[in-house]
Amino acid sequence: MNEKTVAAIATPNAPGGIGIIRISGPEALQITDRVFRAVDGSKITDSKGYRAHFGDVIYNNEKIDEAVCLVFRAPHSYTGEDVAEINCHGGLFVTKQILRAVIEAGAEPAGPGEFTKRAFLNGKMDLAGSESVMALISASGKQAAAAALNTLEGNLSKKINACCDRIIGVCASLAAWVDYPDEDIEETETSEMTEVFSSVKAELEDIIRRYDCGKAVTEGVDAVIVGKPNVGKSTVMNLLSGYQRSIVTDIAGTTRDVVEEKITIGDIVLKIADTAGIHDTENVVENIGVDLARKRLDRAELVLAVFDGSSPLSAEDSTIIEQCREKKKIALLNKADLPRLADRGVIEKDFDRVVEISALTGEGVRELERALSEILMTDEFDPAAACLTGERQRNCCIRAVGHLSECLTALESGVTLDAVNVCADCAVDALLELTGKKARTAVVDEVFSRFCVGK
Ligand code: GDP
Repeated sequence: MNEKTVAAIATPNAPGGIGIIRISGPEALQITDRVFRAVDGSKITDSKGYRAHFGDVIYNNEKIDEAVCLVFRAPHSYTGEDVAEINCHGGLFVTKQILRAVIEAGAEPAGPGEFTKRAFLNGKMDLAGSESVMALISASGKQAAAAALNTLEGNLSKKINACCDRIIGVCASLAAWVDYPDEDIEETETSEMTEVFSSVKAELEDIIRRYDCGKAVTEGVDAVIVGKPNVGKSTVMNLLSGYQRSIVTDIAGTTRDVVEEKITIGDIVLKIADTAGIHDTENVVENIGVDLARKRLDRAELVLAVFDGSSPLSAEDSTIIEQCREKKKIALLNKADLPRLADRGVIEKDFDRVVEISALTGEGVRELERALSEILMTDEFDPAAACLTGERQRNCCIRAVGHLSECLTALESGVTLDAVNVCADCAVDALLELTGKKARTAVVDEVFSRFCVGK
């Protein structure tokens, strides 16, 4: 149990109907009594828990708001500690004043993810579950939310724990052999071990593959829009994001900075950058934009290359095509509302898909959605199956798969079984790190540092 009692505003930093100040720790109820007067005169410290109390919030002997205080007694709370949640009017000033009152009454400001970290440390959820809390908060679509909820409910951990148990089962027989190395090991025993290692490895590989397919849905894919000036990149961006956000003009090279935005097309999230267009220019300011565009293009996983379908392709278009090599790429043959003069066949050779679109009328967006889901293989994503949340978990799985491959190679080449045992142990460790049963403090701290304050 944590010694300190912490507090934070749990609702967004914006005006709203309700604001919530969450207080958790051994002194949570005493501290709340110092700032909250229930109308019926009752004390929060006397509350049985799972109760709502109506009253006034007092700061410097003055009433600052009317509020409802929810009380949860340890261990029956989100964090597993005593928790009070003051539900006040959701104004920025009011919530900040109440937090200040609570801190002056003895609480300390909570760090990012501190409430969930306490829930993890108190055994209310494992590390994979904790990460899915943040994934659920930041989900931008139905499938992403369903996948996060599924992990929060423990489906991934169940699967990972089952994999772990199977490897540990093998380790137990290996340990017996290590203790009595002179005993001959049965042929059937090694083939059973091979069977377990291969099937666990296949299961983990399947989980990784599904995560990779689902990444476009759960986390979003880094994408760029490229194209020579005036082909309609800004207009495409406006169409996809649903509102006017880049400057659209007839003057070539108007967009000078890289504007990045999360855009949802169907269930697919694109972290998309509108760029100045990669072209040679003497203009210094424009050159900065072009440089930024190049860097962004380097790290993009997906390229949307825009061409003006209403005019013949030019040398500049060919340069763009050249720069998109080695990436997943879709060509948008824009201005489909005008007669087509560009040669579609030339573009088709170099792109995974060509979509004719009119950024002006919106024609072609459904076709773009289909092309995206085919290229990013999001159809294979099943939010009801065990889903990894984030690169940390993926990395643990990859490591486990690597160690299981070593086990298999060692068994096949007839290396002594203690070598197999060491590799199997490493595979187990990687999986225990995933669920947090055996994660170093630095790993745990890193996970929660990415959370928001108040969660
Ligand atoms: P950028 O320089 O590539 O960002 O191009 P803009 O988005 O600024 O567009 C250049 C010009 O093309 C503007 O006048 C747009 O209104 C026009 N434009 C963009 N998309 C379309 C389209 O689908 N059809 C037609 N007819 N005009 C378009």
